[in-house]
Amino acid sequence: MRVVLLGPPGAGKGTQARRLAERFGVPHLSTGDLLREQVTAGTVLGRRAADFLDSGRLVPDALITAIVRGRLHSSSVRDGCVLDGCPRSAVQAKALETILAETGTALTAVLEFAVDEEEVVRRIGGRQVCRADSGHIFHLRSAPPAVRGLCDHCGGELYQRTDDRPDTVRQRLAVYAEQTAPVARFYAEAGLLRTVDAAGTTDEVTRRVLGALGLAGAGARP
Ligand code: ADP
Repeated sequence: MRVVLLGPPGAGKGTQARRLAERFGVPHLSTGDLLREQVTAGTVLGRRAADFLDSGRLVPDALITAIVRGRLHSSSVRDGCVLDGCPRSAVQAKALETILAETGTALTAVLEFAVDEEEVVRRIGGRQVCRADSGHIFHLRSAPPAVRGLCDHCGGELYQRTDDRPDTVRQRLAVYAEQTAPVARFYAEAGLLRTVDAAGTTDEVTRRVLGALGLAGAGARP
């Protein structure tokens, strides 16, 4: 199982990626999570990426390609992975093709999460993320933690991402339409793209994701 999840911010990629990765026992590789870890750790890479993240712009392709190449050459992804947040530009899509060829692997499918803008703004407005390594995602209304402000899984502190402010969200949506939508067309032409309706509850979306992967019968367990 080697899948790419595409979709606008707030489409639910992170939540579904985590579920898929757990279900198939493969790593979840989120470029957004990897970048935020670097920013928090104050590394050179993190310092170079921070302004792009905060303003909702794409981090330069060369940085992303270097990170993804390192991860995809690691033995931990021998049996597959769920790639979340990359590729986000045509250049990254081409680079990923090269990296897959280098590693003698291929994508099983590319899932595009479709959701309208109003829903995105509503979801992101209430999104809370665990600051600890677990990175679990909650929503103040639709998926609240048992104890306000604390992660159900590890007790870590929940926070709102700085790029989840409304003006930055609008910028991220514009970047998606301009730079990432062409990536979906690239995969449609390659016959790999499956579009998933990302409206509804997380369990409903999980069932659709499994259906899109040809695993509809296994959908009862999210
Ligand atoms: P979301 O899908 O909600 O936008 P992510 O955590 O995937 O959130 O990404 C947050 C930010 O990280 C992006 O707005 C961008 O600045 C940066 N980023 C993540 N992945 C990439 C990528 N593949 N290319 C360029 N920038 C990226």
